[in-house]
Amino acid sequence: MTMKLARINLSDKKAKLLKIPTDWEKSLIGGKGVATKLLFNIPTKIDPFHSENAIIFAIGPVNGLRLPGSSRMTSVFKSPLTFGYGESQCGGFAAHEMAKTGVHFMCITGRAERPVYLVLEDGDVEVKSATHLWGKDCYETEEILKKDEGGEVLSIGPAGENLVRFACITHRKGRQFGRCGAGAVMGSKRLKAVVIKGSKDIEVADPEALFEFRKWMLENIVPKLEGMKNYGTPLISALTNEMGVLPTKYWQFGRFENYEDIGYEKLREYIVKDVTCYGCSVACGKLRRAGDIEVEGPEYETQFALGSLCFVDDPVAIMRANDLCDRYGMDTISAGNVVAFYMACSERGEVEEKVKFGDADGMLELLRKITFRDGIGNVLAEGVKMASEKLGVSVEAVHCKGLEPPGYDARGLFGMALAYTTSQRGACHMRSCAYRPNLAGDIDRFSPEMQAELVKDREDFYCVVDSLVFCRFLCLPAIGMDWEDASRLLKIVGREYSVEQLKVIGENIWKMSYEFNKREGVSDFELPNIFFNPLKDSGYVLKRGDFERMVEEYKKLRGICLELLK
Ligand code: SF4
Repeated sequence: MTMKLARINLSDKKAKLLKIPTDWEKSLIGGKGVATKLLFNIPTKIDPFHSENAIIFAIGPVNGLRLPGSSRMTSVFKSPLTFGYGESQCGGFAAHEMAKTGVHFMCITGRAERPVYLVLEDGDVEVKSATHLWGKDCYETEEILKKDEGGEVLSIGPAGENLVRFACITHRKGRQFGRCGAGAVMGSKRLKAVVIKGSKDIEVADPEALFEFRKWMLENIVPKLEGMKNYGTPLISALTNEMGVLPTKYWQFGRFENYEDIGYEKLREYIVKDVTCYGCSVACGKLRRAGDIEVEGPEYETQFALGSLCFVDDPVAIMRANDLCDRYGMDTISAGNVVAFYMACSERGEVEEKVKFGDADGMLELLRKITFRDGIGNVLAEGVKMASEKLGVSVEAVHCKGLEPPGYDARGLFGMALAYTTSQRGACHMRSCAYRPNLAGDIDRFSPEMQAELVKDREDFYCVVDSLVFCRFLCLPAIGMDWEDASRLLKIVGREYSVEQLKVIGENIWKMSYEFNKREGVSDFELPNIFFNPLKDSGYVLKRGDFERMVEEYKKLRGICLELLK
């Protein structure tokens, strides 16, 4: 397979099709690996909204295959939230469509004079006027472009246009490149949307092996995701609430007293349809309806961020907020954190405009203000780190490297404390999925023991997974694909790698993301202070000594691997 890169400069509307060097394909696989290498071409320490920042959409060697989980696409860019390494993945149908174009990477730089959208059709790229789309939300934009162009659409809404630093890119209404502000980078380029249209056949080196692999997945992995199939990701909330790690009232509590009102069973009542990605029988997406609201969600992360974190116990209000974020194009995790942070400031009487915890209407109004940078929304649109600096309040802004955390309180999941700080994109649950073995009891969640080994191994593995590019849920620790399976999967497309080789590749890709951050001056191992103070309900706390031990052990492991790779 020869992987191709479309280099597109929006400033002069020129595009070039290039071949990815064979040694890159071999040593970086594709997806995240190659895209991260390409990111080094942007000038050092430029502002993320500078025209020379790049947003790279990437797929890998297995995305054309009809398999559960093969539907992911990744995007890599310099993040306007962290000023460092930004990445975000999205499911749906765009990755498969892109595989049919024969182009695996789109590296977009420059800034258009007026709003534009891109069409990638097989090997051709066209830049078209989007003045008629500017100002429209993601749903409207996609509907118009689907009608006019066909194919699969990735678009931004008003939040991206207004450079809300946690703006996302939306696909098929309910699928997002959610984290790190990819939508704001598109907005800074006046790039409203990307349309992908492919018509080429997908090459499969070994069709029989593909058939066997799919059969193996359907028999061995998919059945283990039965809960997700029935309830969607909100099922996780039953565990996190029960175990006292469901972030509540802006990281003050680990259990939500009104949990039943927004729990997975309650949310199930609103499901009208399952939604899936290309080739996947898990169908973890759930379309929910309540009155005039119809939304694919809330996912667990939205349920926590716009629910318990804001102390909102009205499931319909959460769905409404979810819908607003999807339409406007905002990451729900960051948006919920920012709103809850403001509520905490309000509770302490440190801001003029009051929005109390639990005020669902106030939450919806804040989301609108953030999107349009209206009044206080203009400050909150900067993300929690910069907003707290601007407001000069005493409430601690909870973030790592500038990225707001997902729904796992590290005081009851020690592995997540380490994972938040070692994740190169900022506080993230998906770089290592350390929450899962900690929640499942595969590792002592209140002990620093073995957490460094776990986090490093999983980070390296997911660097490979994100280079394939494959869905996390099919690769969850202990129940999903592991190193051996990734090696078998690559054989189907004619790529031979031993497990040992894949481990070195994973380390190398992680190392590149770390070095990018180092180059940009973002390389801390810091954790918000709040995690060193007891949770108000359970008293769970992370001792600084335990945290430092995990970081030291982790650094030692990475140091050893970095040494070997020199
Ligand atoms: S598990 Fe869910 S997110 Fe992953 S590919 Fe299947 S439907 Fe998509």
